[in-house]
Parts: sequence; C-alpha cells; structure tokens
Amino acid sequence: MQPGQKKRVFLYAGIGFVAVGIASIVLTYMFIYEPLRNETAVQDTRFNLKEIHSVPLARHDHVSLVLLVNGQQVVIPEGIGMNPQLWHDHSLDQYGPSGISPMHTHDTSGTIHIESTVAREYTLGEFLKVAGISTDNITRTTVDGNELVDIQNHAMKNGEKLRVEFSE
Ligand SMILES: [Zn+2]
Repeated sequence: MQPGQKKRVFLYAGIGFVAVGIASIVLTYMFIYEPLRNETAVQDTRFNLKEIHSVPLARHDHVSLVLLVNGQQVVIPEGIGMNPQLWHDHSLDQYGPSGISPMHTHDTSGTIHIESTVAREYTLGEFLKVAGISTDNITRTTVDGNELVDIQNHAMKNGEKLRVEFSE
C-alpha cells in the first residue's frame, strides 16, 4: 500500500466513525428520548383526553399541591378547570387546549396540570381563581418547603411542591 493510499483509508475510516456516531445519536433520540417525552401524553389518555391533548402544547407541566384546612389535609377535586362546577375563572381559557382551562386537575392526587398552547407563566393565584378558592384565609404557603409570601404572583414551575394552609 502506498503512503497516500494509507492516508485515504484512515480518512475514510474517520468519516465512517463520525457517521456511525451521528447515526447513533439520531437513533437514540428517536427511540429513547422521544418516547420519554411523550410519556405524559400517553399517560393522560387514561382520562380519555386524547382529543384534547392532540393540540400542540407550548407547555405541559405538573405541579403538586397540598391543601390543609385547620391542619387537616383536604382532597383536591378532580376536574378543576374542566368541570363547569369547578371552573370559576375563564379569563385564561384562550390559552388552554380547547374546552379546558390551561390549569386543571385530572384526578384527586393534587397534581395541577399546566397545559398551555402558548409559552406563558401561570401563577398560584391564577390557579386558585380557576378553582374558586379564596386566598382570604390563607395562613401559610410553602414551595418545596420554603416560605412563600407573594402567592398571587408566584409563577408555578414544573415539578415543584406547593403547600397551602388555611384557617377557618
Ligand atoms: Zn398533564
């Protein structure tokens, strides 16, 4: 083999390695990352919301909320922002998937679903308004264990844990 040919073989081998590398990144994305990303949408079909979730969402986040009244944990109802009886504020409906508020509950687990067709912040105050929960008797609120003072303007973040205490 001539020295020139040898160089070319190495060059081809190099290109080959790079191509294999790119292909494996693409395949990893297609088969591992994409299904993970769609997991919440798949999970939500349990609630028979397939048609609602078929609209493209700019945000699909989940926040956990615990409510206590006089120290006792109360159940957060299913269907806040979906069921007309549990849907008190309609000023943000334009940002939600058609037919539901961009902030809603699918079950009684205390998970607030933020599903928005636009990239926008949603505050705890806005959620409480949708749910029809008055902030008058709130005695203490924490986010991931840290004291929260401005409930109205607190922008909810994916994965955070909110705890709101009321006294009656
Ligand atoms: Zn969701």
